[in-house]
Amino acid sequence: MLDADFFRRWMTATAASVDREAERLTALDSPIGDADHGSNLQRGFTAVAAALDKEAPGTPGGVLILAGRQLISTVGGASGPLYGTLLRRTGKALGDAGEVSAEQLAEALRAGVDAVMTLGGAAPGDATMIDALVPAVDALGDSFTAARTAAEEGAVATTPLQARKGRASYVGERSIGHQDPGATSAALLIAALAEAAGE
Ligand code: ADP
Ligand code: MG
Repeated sequence: MLDADFFRRWMTATAASVDREAERLTALDSPIGDADHGSNLQRGFTAVAAALDKEAPGTPGGVLILAGRQLISTVGGASGPLYGTLLRRTGKALGDAGEVSAEQLAEALRAGVDAVMTLGGAAPGDATMIDALVPAVDALGDSFTAARTAAEEGAVATTPLQARKGRASYVGERSIGHQDPGATSAALLIAALAEAAGE
């Protein structure tokens, strides 16, 4: 079973990995966006880690709802409300339980990803974070490691695609040949989940 401490570890592992990869995320956002994805998420997850340190919610749902709220209020770009919605909706789906199973997490994360698709209007194949998140959720029934691999492959698979949503869609066909920054950061989020699970 996964307790609040597991979810705190997931968020702090994400913050550490976003810190390490911030320059790369921003570099990916340069040719097809406005070169701020790394700094956006760095600001957001730094705030998440600080808030969790201060408040330490006692339930998995509480951890994710607090994290999502921080992202929405501190990240200026499109990715803030999208990741914020992902975590808040996932947290809400987990309810008040003190511990949840991996299956419950997979189901809740599915609800979170659906909420991101509703909010942003992106579908798989539009070259967004959705292209890493959907395969990750599909694989989560197998293992955290399978989800991590699926997310990483999903991110790489955005390279030949033309972006259909977000800022990268403004450059039209010129987005072809560039890996999507948000799909790349979504793969970091899922990798951190495997890390929190000790895989
Ligand atoms: P901004 O585009 O406002 O500068 P960021 O650079 O922080 O925001 O985030 C860009 C990433 O957000 C994209 O690479 C993409 O993965 C994701 N994104 C943008 N718009 C959407 C959307 N409508 N649906 C899903 N993901 C989106
Ligand atoms: Mg940007």
